[in-house]
Amino acid sequence: MSQAEAAVQRAAQALASGALAILPTETVYGLAADAADPRAVAALFEAKGRPRFNPLIAHVADLAMAETIARFDDRAQALAEAFWPGPLTLVLPITDQAAVCDLARAGLDSVAVRAPAHPVAHAVIAALGRPVVAPSANRSGRPSPTTFSDALEETGVFALAALDGGPCAVGLESTVVALLDEPRLLRPGAVTREQIEAVIGPLAEAEDDAHRSPGRMARHYAPQAPVRLNAAAPEPDEAYLAFGPDAPEGPRVFNLSPTGDLAEAASHLFAYLRAADRTAPRAIAVAPIPTHGLGEAIADRLNRAAGFVG
Ligand code: AMP
Ligand code: MG
Repeated sequence: MSQAEAAVQRAAQALASGALAILPTETVYGLAADAADPRAVAALFEAKGRPRFNPLIAHVADLAMAETIARFDDRAQALAEAFWPGPLTLVLPITDQAAVCDLARAGLDSVAVRAPAHPVAHAVIAALGRPVVAPSANRSGRPSPTTFSDALEETGVFALAALDGGPCAVGLESTVVALLDEPRLLRPGAVTREQIEAVIGPLAEAEDDAHRSPGRMARHYAPQAPVRLNAAAPEPDEAYLAFGPDAPEGPRVFNLSPTGDLAEAASHLFAYLRAADRTAPRAIAVAPIPTHGLGEAIADRLNRAAGFVG
């Protein structure tokens, strides 16, 4: 067995024993627990400082595992075929209440489910043989960790195992779509609205439902410094998240994408918010960023980091 395989086995054993594990996914680093184990899930809420009314996403190895816990209609099937494994979460009727415990679902009769594309996350879930819940590995309210060291700094102390999968390729959380009545976009994310609508047609907006949805609260993903949006240039003592080729340079300037590429900007967003915060600025100013495609999810996270509802 290679070192990497042994590490996967150790993480799966840690989860099976009721402990927590830090896992890389393609979106952000997750703090994982066995979805069927209420004590492990309680420890996970505790470690994150996350309010218990916020349901968690069940991560599965593949569609077959997902179909053992949730009911897939034609639209769900089509979306899973188009985007799994990948950064799309589907909220569906639960069919096996024990497989994703009440606490993990916040008592709802629906379940959020996704099959991550990262090979390490996939290998651990397959080795465990059942779903894991894996919210972002940050303390509640803080920016999501997109590197192994940021994940360790946030919640490493609570994890029995931690796997380094390198920097997260996507860097933003999954898109969340509910398929309970008409299809609804609950959270914009790495798969764009346009991509989803191309498969199942128009998406309705989420009802205002901040209580059920942690990433939906007004201030979330927040660094210590205040965040100032749509800033053409930084003011004295501000750090600056720039975008595009015409940005100023300086020790406190972090360019999300010098070429103006939204996917690159998304992948750097949380790491650069943290880096800017470490310079102890008066505020973090952020350049205007286009809001089409992936820009919708970037704008959503920035609005919440700044304390505005998007
Ligand atoms: P995260 O903090 O990345 O683990 O995200 C969890 C997200 O999944 C929340 O923002 C919710 O929007 C969503 N979610 C999870 N379970 C449900 C559910 N049963 N009903 C509605 N939304 C859910
Ligand atoms: Mg989160």
